[in-house]
Amino acid sequence: MTDISALGEFGLIEHLTRDFQGKQASVLKGIGDDAAVVADGEEVQVFSTDLLLEGIHFDLAYFPLRHLGYKAVAVNLSDIAAMNALPYGITVSIGMSNRFTVEALDELYAGIRMACEKYGVDLLGGDTSSSKQGLIISVTAFGKTGKDQVSYRSGAQPKDLICVSGDVGGAYAGFLILDREKSVFLENPELQPDLTDFDYVIGRQLKPEARTDVVLKLREWGIVPTAMIDVSDGIGSELHHISRQSGTGATIYADKLPIDFQTVSVAETFQISPTTFALNGGEDYELLFTVPLSAFDVLKTEPGITVIGHVTEEKGQVQVVLGNGTVTDVPASGWNHFPDKKEKPE
Ligand code: ADP
Ligand code: MG
Repeated sequence: MTDISALGEFGLIEHLTRDFQGKQASVLKGIGDDAAVVADGEEVQVFSTDLLLEGIHFDLAYFPLRHLGYKAVAVNLSDIAAMNALPYGITVSIGMSNRFTVEALDELYAGIRMACEKYGVDLLGGDTSSSKQGLIISVTAFGKTGKDQVSYRSGAQPKDLICVSGDVGGAYAGFLILDREKSVFLENPELQPDLTDFDYVIGRQLKPEARTDVVLKLREWGIVPTAMIDVSDGIGSELHHISRQSGTGATIYADKLPIDFQTVSVAETFQISPTTFALNGGEDYELLFTVPLSAFDVLKTEPGITVIGHVTEEKGQVQVVLGNGTVTDVPASGWNHFPDKKEKPE
């Protein structure tokens, strides 16, 4: 008998799906990207699904249900954006134990509704069941884009620029603060924490956004990324996905990584380098993409997009140049070890 842990998450997916043959000519991409892509005339339809489990992906001790509903939708729409597509609909399936009241589920759905309003997507359906324990949420997102607009993980070319939207590492910083406050609270319920110094990073953890605005901007600029992925597991891991699937490598520069000052301050408090937060943190749901050099003229003046490095020819080799000029490998398993990193939505 083989332990699941022997394969790891990606190994397990590969193992379970290895004998499935593609049968439909219209399926342009099945398993292996942020979303599946199906031809539809001049457009393509894109589909993605995610599962969120209480105790694995979220802790209701500090995750308000309304935020959870919003995040469950946003993280799925992020996978649609990662294909350079725009979402139009979602389905939502829930399983809940009898510890949840109607009012609690109303809160969850208030968050789901807010996200539907914000991103202009319709709630198309779903499924509802009781569960023995805890809350389970599964969201499937549907989107579309022009057939020449879609960006896979596999199209990066040597010399392309590597860009990231927004800033990274903040969601993990927010998680560390919330987790620390939870332990303090459990020991002393009288203490009311003052979290105003950490409002930005806590917001990054509790209320991530899907960067559909970046997809719209790219259209405006006439740029189709050669490869794109959303940052759910940290830039280090995402660069490995792009590199492996594109047959290329990547070199990035630590001092170019966009990191908010609150993230830096939390990193210092926990005595972890901000670069580690940025490369490994995850759950930022920013877009990491590659573009031809010719796009630099447009992107260099865009404050919300940072060029962090370039694509190289060395297949699967992801390297970071540190501030002192040292070049080191970013391993696929993560750049540095987090002692008690929580599991994150995939
Ligand atoms: P993401 O992090 O972007 O949500 P994942 O890492 O969860 O992507 O999934 C990688 C790929 O594997 C996706 O194409 C996804 O649809 C597919 N996948 C994940 N789990 C399964 C499964 N149990 N059966 C079939 N395909 C799966
Ligand atoms: Mg993704």
